[in-house]
Amino acid sequence: MARYIFITGGVVSSLGKGLASAALGALLQARGYTVRLRKLDPYLNVDPGTMSPFEHGEVFVTDDGAETDLDLGHYERFTGVAARATDSVSSGRIYSTVLEKERRGDYLGKTIQVIPHVTDEIKAFLEIGAGETDFMLCEIGGTVGDIEGLPFFEAIRQFAQERPRGQCIFMHLTLLPYVSASRELKTKPTQHSVKELRSIGIAPDVLVCRTEHPIPEKEVQKIALFCNVRPDAVIPAMDLKSIYEAPLAYHEVGLDQAVLDAFGIHPAPRPTLDTWREVVDAIHNPDGSVRIAVVGKYTQLEDAYKSIAEALTHGGVHSRVKVEAEWLDSEVFERENPAPYLEGFNGILIPGGFGERGTEGMINAARFARERRVPYMGICLGMQMAVIEAARNLAGINSAGSEEFNHEAGDAKFEPVIYHMKEWVEGNRTIKRHHTDHKGGTMRLGAYNATLAEGSRVAEIYGTTAISERHRHRYEVALQYKDKLEAQGLRFSGMSPDGKLPEIVEIPDHPWYVGVQFHPELKSKPFEPHPLFASFVQAAVEQSRLV
Ligand code: GLN
Repeated sequence: MARYIFITGGVVSSLGKGLASAALGALLQARGYTVRLRKLDPYLNVDPGTMSPFEHGEVFVTDDGAETDLDLGHYERFTGVAARATDSVSSGRIYSTVLEKERRGDYLGKTIQVIPHVTDEIKAFLEIGAGETDFMLCEIGGTVGDIEGLPFFEAIRQFAQERPRGQCIFMHLTLLPYVSASRELKTKPTQHSVKELRSIGIAPDVLVCRTEHPIPEKEVQKIALFCNVRPDAVIPAMDLKSIYEAPLAYHEVGLDQAVLDAFGIHPAPRPTLDTWREVVDAIHNPDGSVRIAVVGKYTQLEDAYKSIAEALTHGGVHSRVKVEAEWLDSEVFERENPAPYLEGFNGILIPGGFGERGTEGMINAARFARERRVPYMGICLGMQMAVIEAARNLAGINSAGSEEFNHEAGDAKFEPVIYHMKEWVEGNRTIKRHHTDHKGGTMRLGAYNATLAEGSRVAEIYGTTAISERHRHRYEVALQYKDKLEAQGLRFSGMSPDGKLPEIVEIPDHPWYVGVQFHPELKSKPFEPHPLFASFVQAAVEQSRLV
């Protein structure tokens, strides 16, 4: 039976709970334990799949097809443990399950209430897979005191109370603001946040305090006394240059030791941290740098392309270069020539996205990359735009477009090079879709296999012709244009195993030009960079030597 670590936050949001959880997971693994990380989000959306990236940052997709919070991306990047659909839940999902049961009559006429029905459903979620792992780390989204979060806090309180002593601990993240006028770190917000937590029956075992300055010993003692935690369980968390320093930094200040002490695990196995030392060394001591332009539409919000930013960093770790990624708004390239903006970059990446806005600019950027022979990586929408670009400018199909932006029926002047998928095969089932379907959870989601053409660039990069990658799309490259496009040099080098869905296109006669229908960034890790990102960054390094 797993030991549970519940991770909560107080004072303000965005304290880095996800990162602290992920780093702690990595540290427990370094001591030889197995871990699984979970996220419980208080919002009412059933999942973040229907939320705009501006609202919630990137949607992270699991192999089993769930659209989840981006913190699951951190968990995977730090632990290498593939997240599952059952590692992410929201109030919306919990309530919809409860209401479905109520409609079915499962509650046998009872009055349905937050306690016990909603809390029972949350506890059942926590329990899934408990026998499979040594530690289950469960992060509660939001901050203590949020109305929406209350059922989750109540559920974890009950859960811990119902287990044998020592099986669950609580770790709480807070902020120690620095008041420069008096040159002091202030502990009061932390005290209040812990008070709030204790008023709902949860006493933290470990306090992680975000701070810009080292915490003086006197303040550590004060926090310990007023918050009722042991002084060595007051863990300072200072800002880091790279998130990948987090496991080593947290280890140095004793986080993993404090957690194991709270469980009463003595003696604790010693950690092996060499992998993290190597990753951090490559990040801190690069042999050069490359500039990559990421041309997309959600460029104002860093979190919107979180996994892409991280995967580029991992590619840099592989080539021991610093990747300087710059986010450029593709809408600009609808009005202006992209050349002056894009000259000087060693690689161009067009990421995924939804809707028409900015897509003509992406097409112009893809054209620039193709014609100027700059390494190009197109991901999902970025692949689709590259195909439209090639259709228009190489194959002479001037009206090539996507059904995502043009009306599906009846526009005679429009050639749907990218069409709305109506059916595809998943295992031994055929999935059918109609454009009137609900938007939530109806895309082609999760891991699907693809077969790579022998002798193609991608087969060489992957070192195999059979791959599995994660998908999240509703539209697809139409097969009937394959011959025309291949005749012009755009090779369809990866296909679904049944040969119906194009998965990868590449231009063999180009230094590096690859478009993929899937999201390779979701599977990249600092200690195991995704082969496409490693190869793309290496191509950018080679390009930088030419200029
Ligand atoms: N909007 C496109 C589609 O649904 C691309 C999706 C994406 O980039 N993730 O197919």
